[in-house]
Amino acid sequence: MAKLPILQEPNDILREKASEVSLESLASGRIQKLLRDMHDTLVATDIGVGLAAPQISRSLRIFLVLEEVVKKKQEELSKESKELKKKERKTLVFVNPTIIKASGKKVWMVEGCLSVDGIFGKIRRSEKVTIEAHDEHGKKISRGASGIFAEIIQHEMDHLDGVLFIDNAKEVRKVKAEEK
Ligand code: ZN
Repeated sequence: MAKLPILQEPNDILREKASEVSLESLASGRIQKLLRDMHDTLVATDIGVGLAAPQISRSLRIFLVLEEVVKKKQEELSKESKELKKKERKTLVFVNPTIIKASGKKVWMVEGCLSVDGIFGKIRRSEKVTIEAHDEHGKKISRGASGIFAEIIQHEMDHLDGVLFIDNAKEVRKVKAEEK
C-alpha cells in the first residue's frame, strides 16, 4: 500500500503534456506498481473521484476513475462513498485514452480537483462522451459515459494535456475545510 503525495497547483508537472505509455511497458513492474499506487492514493482521498498520473508526479497518459461513479447520480454517489469502506473501493484504469466522441450538448457542472485543494467552480462539459483506451492489462476498451462519469473523463483528459479546471471555470470559489 503506497499512498503518494498529490501535487498542488502551481506545479510544472501539472502543466506538462503527458507522454504515451508503450503497451510493452504496461506489464512491467514499474507501471503495474504505479497503477497500484495511483489506486491506493485515489481511494484514500475523501472527495476524489478520479486521479491522473501527472498529479502524482508521473507525466504519463494514465488516469483512474472510482468505479462507484459509473451510472451514479451525484447525490447517490456522495452517500455511497461515505458508506463504502475505502479499502473496498474499486477503480477503473484508462491508459493512453482518447475521447472519440463528445456530445455537442454541454452542461454546467460544479467541479473541484485534488490538485487545486479547496477550490470549486462551474465548468461547461459535454453531457456525453465515448472514450477509447487500454485497461491495466493492455486490453483495448471503449466506453460510453454520461453525467458525472463523462465529466470526470473530460477533467482527467485535461490533466494529461496540462490543463486544470480552473483555467476554464467560472464562479470559482474557495471552500473552507469545514464546509466541504
Ligand atoms: Zn483534477
